[in-house]
Amino acid sequence: MNFDYTDEQKLFAESVRRFAREHLAAGALKRAHDPRFPFDVAQLMAKQGLMGITLPQSDGGQGGTLMDAVIAIEQIAAVCPRSADVVQFGNFGPIRTFAEYGTAAQKARWLADLLAGRMVMSLGMTEPDAGSAVTDLKTSARVDGSHYVINGSKVFSTFSPDAQVFLIYVRYGPGLGGIGSVLVERGTPGFTIGAASEFMSGEEWCELHLADCCIPAENVLLGSGGFKKQMAGFNVERLGNTARALACGRYAFSAARDYAATREQFDRPLCEFQGLQWKFADMAIKLESAQLLLYRAATNADHGLPSAYETAIAKAACNQAGFEVASEAVQIMGALGFSRETLVEYCMRRTRGWMIAGGSIEMLKNRIAEHVFDRRFDQRKRQSAVAE
Ligand SMILES: Cc1cc2nc3c(=O)[nH]c(=O)nc-3n(C[C@H](O)[C@H](O)[C@H](O)COP(=O)(O)OP(=O)(O)OC[C@H]3O[C@@H](n4cnc5c(N)ncnc54)[C@H](O)[C@@H]3O)c2cc1C
Repeated sequence: MNFDYTDEQKLFAESVRRFAREHLAAGALKRAHDPRFPFDVAQLMAKQGLMGITLPQSDGGQGGTLMDAVIAIEQIAAVCPRSADVVQFGNFGPIRTFAEYGTAAQKARWLADLLAGRMVMSLGMTEPDAGSAVTDLKTSARVDGSHYVINGSKVFSTFSPDAQVFLIYVRYGPGLGGIGSVLVERGTPGFTIGAASEFMSGEEWCELHLADCCIPAENVLLGSGGFKKQMAGFNVERLGNTARALACGRYAFSAARDYAATREQFDRPLCEFQGLQWKFADMAIKLESAQLLLYRAATNADHGLPSAYETAIAKAACNQAGFEVASEAVQIMGALGFSRETLVEYCMRRTRGWMIAGGSIEMLKNRIAEHVFDRRFDQRKRQSAVAE
């Protein structure tokens, strides 16, 4: 067991940090308050080799590891937390499921633009009546000759105001086995993208409506039975949210530490008050322990499919650590921390969302409990109870 980066990982981390300082430090605050996808950052990152880190070179990626992508998120977020969303998009998000299961024709059509930062993809999974119970999704795909007709609605899709192509979970038939996914382009007749709404983090999302939306059969990504494959991809996506949550917590921690070292009250720097020292000690414990869980999940995922348990425990720990540390950093920095003049309040708002998105803390804990008891706990009502 070795708790250090390899020499290669150290060099990679340094080069990403240098890139971030040179290109992303200026404008970090402005970027955090801009709800739109930062295409300029995506294009810079594409040139730097930070898009498709984990995708094979034959697909236009870098052929690197998930750990590399986690390191990239950490180094970028340490300078510009908002830009870490671009690393997420280019490495962990629906782009990965797409690159893994897309046909050669689908990849030829979209992947190069996505990896170059010219285009962004949005994931349409959640529906008004299917959130945590995602397998309750109703959006239907009915075959009609050489086409599929899609009907349904999606909510909360990240990047939906800017996306050109949408990876939409659909139902071809009943049950878990009936779920798969299709690719729908903006502008397809029958596909309406509603007005933008805002999350607490400042990100925007649009309702997506598909009404007799006709797509060619070539746009099917995964047919019936594709759900399990999508969930395996989703475990990887979770690691991106996990890494961003922790990295935003670290950003806030560093800002608060610098502040406490220099800000004076009662003729002493804040860091000399034991009440604040213990806060920092608790914050460090949360960050360091969550980081070990993240690194274990990412490293083991690099040696096979990500473990659902390791991913769940890492995400729950990093989501909680990221939010709690950012919230404490706001407290330590007083009114300045609560102000939009610093990125600390942004990190607090941003980390809050990952306790809900990509597997809520409660759903992750359900998964962890199943591991503890080595049995499955069905969240649905028992049939006998339903009948009563
Ligand atoms: C910032 C952000 C980005 C998102 N991005 C996307 C995206 O790109 N694409 C997309 O499709 N969706 C996206 N979502 C939606 C996200 O996937 C859902 O919010 C999530 O699945 C939870 O669903 P829900 O909000 O409907 O909450 P509900 O499922 O209604 O749950 C409400 C509360 O009840 C708890 N709960 C539910 N069931 C159980 C249970 N069995 N045991 C214990 N507690 C339970 C939940 O944990 C939650 O606290 C995003 C959400 C957020 C906040």
